[in-house]
Amino acid sequence: MPARRKTPPIPKIAPDLAVAFGARLRAWYRRNHRDLPWRKTRDPYRVLISELMLQQTQVSRVLDFYARFLETFPTIQHLADAKPKRVMESWEGLGYYARARNLHKLAKHVTREGADGTLPSDPAELRKLPGIGAYTAGAVASFAYEKRAALVDTNVARVLSRVFAPKLNPKRPADLKRIWAIAEQTLPRTGAAVWTQNQALMELGALVCTARVKRCGACPLRRTCKSAE
Ligand code: SF4
Repeated sequence: MPARRKTPPIPKIAPDLAVAFGARLRAWYRRNHRDLPWRKTRDPYRVLISELMLQQTQVSRVLDFYARFLETFPTIQHLADAKPKRVMESWEGLGYYARARNLHKLAKHVTREGADGTLPSDPAELRKLPGIGAYTAGAVASFAYEKRAALVDTNVARVLSRVFAPKLNPKRPADLKRIWAIAEQTLPRTGAAVWTQNQALMELGALVCTARVKRCGACPLRRTCKSAE
């Protein structure tokens, strides 16, 4: 019988380590981040569109689609009122069309009679909407509402596991839960700092600590990272 892999405990991050990690990461972000349009808005609808488009699609490709989609559907009400065919046409070229179908359903749901036409700010409420998973709920809560909400996507999972717990494998659901626990423990205290830190984690995963290469020499976390080379 093959030996069973021992499940590592949920990592405990010392508070002073979490503070130093966050401070370095946010300072790096302020100097190095890319100027992307969805980072200039706190409009929940715009944040949601960017997050859904960025799942499975590269930033350079999303830039065009994002601007065009918002010209066609400037508000969630415009989207809710649109014919399904028109929504799908606006998504053409981005692939993964379930995202567009769910987005349209979501727009209809939040603008239905009796609803107030806004996206909720609580991650648990966001997760009840069509097509919204744990990552997207955390992204809308922290990027639109500056809530103290964690988020973990592929890039963030890679960075957090390399820095704090290299034995965890983000592809295993049990390990991914542990990585979410690390993300929660390293959240800064204020919502504004959470906004920056979540953006920074994603940016570091995209530019410095990538799936293909670790640029440890240029990384702000190298002094605290358990995988630094
Ligand atoms: S020090 Fe290296 S491995 Fe650690 S987070 Fe930075 S780039 Fe990734």
